[in-house]
Amino acid sequence: MTDTFDLQHIWHPYTSMTEPLPCFKVKRAFGVTIELEDGRQLIDGMASWWCAIHGYHHPELDQAAIDQLQSMSHIMFGGLTHEPAIALGKLLLSILPPSLDKIFYADSGSVAVEVALKMAVQYWTAQGRNAKTNFVTPRSGYHGDTWNAMSVCDPVTGMHQVFGSSLPNRIFVPAPQTAFDAVWDQQDVAELERTLALHHDSIAALILEPIVQGAGGMRFYHPEYLRQAKLLCEKYQVLLIFDEIATGFGRTGKMFAWEHAQVEPDIMCIGKALTGGYMTLSVTLTSKHVAETISRGEAGVFMHGPTFMANPLACSVALKSTQLLLAQDWQGNVQRIEQHLKAKLSQLNDLDHVQAVRVLGAIGVVELKHAVDMRDLQQQFVERGIWVRPFGKLVYVMPPYVITEAELEYLLTQMVEVVEHMQQVPA
Ligand SMILES: *Cc1c(COP(=O)(O)O)cnc(C)c1O
Repeated sequence: MTDTFDLQHIWHPYTSMTEPLPCFKVKRAFGVTIELEDGRQLIDGMASWWCAIHGYHHPELDQAAIDQLQSMSHIMFGGLTHEPAIALGKLLLSILPPSLDKIFYADSGSVAVEVALKMAVQYWTAQGRNAKTNFVTPRSGYHGDTWNAMSVCDPVTGMHQVFGSSLPNRIFVPAPQTAFDAVWDQQDVAELERTLALHHDSIAALILEPIVQGAGGMRFYHPEYLRQAKLLCEKYQVLLIFDEIATGFGRTGKMFAWEHAQVEPDIMCIGKALTGGYMTLSVTLTSKHVAETISRGEAGVFMHGPTFMANPLACSVALKSTQLLLAQDWQGNVQRIEQHLKAKLSQLNDLDHVQAVRVLGAIGVVELKHAVDMRDLQQQFVERGIWVRPFGKLVYVMPPYVITEAELEYLLTQMVEVVEHMQQVPA
């Protein structure tokens, strides 16, 4: 099953080279089906980590890539531009916060976060506020794996222990506690206010994932947190950065999660589902005011320019993917998935080994009391014909939006049964 060369030579995400977990070799994927080399077919519950919203091997996305290949796959973005970047930019501005209208194309989510952090620092240094270089962020966040993105991830579940003092020291505030649909508790921003009051002279920006904290714990919090955070940022002259890399493109029930609170950030990052999961591309957006302030600074320019910036192939597929999404009743569809997730996963609520069940939009999360045995669980899911990849105490799904009722029923029935029968690993 597991390929020996792969096992011996190829790193996978967060794995050991001495005790690697088995990887299942995929032959092809289409719709919501992942077909393994041995012919077994799995219903996909992960959308390849938030990305493949339209499913795999989509005829229109395939065609967009093929058409773009006929003219050019890539061309440098320094001194040159192209229609895919322009057309995608126009479409994105029509669905993003109205105050954000300057577009930076980056290569991956982590890089988009790096770009956002750099923009924030350049914004303040351009005004001679050279001490405003640090960042404040809620705990339980996740913003990517590159250096500075890593520095604003949760300091416990993130990678701070491993990298220690090589990481810049960020300022952490408690994670938002009021759940998405609970009664708002103003105490939730008390520590943020104290921190900003004390440290705003050294803080460039507050960075957070609006509404859904993803890989840092799969938690859904109250929209009022964002409104309060925005007021505090204005009061203390700190920029607000929204990382919508996971939450974008309809996943939470809104096109982007900021809409739950109607709060516009100064800088925003999108990625993941941007290309429908076809290739890597991300965008960092900012306002005219931030962009112009940066440009009036001593440097005169924004200091970033990746080799594959605005890759035309990625932009073309992203354009088609976004058009596809907008052309359908995506909101009705996400609601359909949400209702199904709620109905099925709530069955697990009363189990002794289940801590909580949470559903928002097309995201379904089962939080267990103890960490799962990944090797065992992964094997069981595959044997039952579904693809669900747990981490830590979390077993969760965010399926492609094209999943049918029957496929969703199958996916969730199998997932629920596995969780019901789980052998708990003692803490
Ligand atoms: C996945 C993710 C990132 C990092 O994106 P990559 O493309 O993996 O670099 C950053 N922020 C959030 C919220 C994410 O979910």
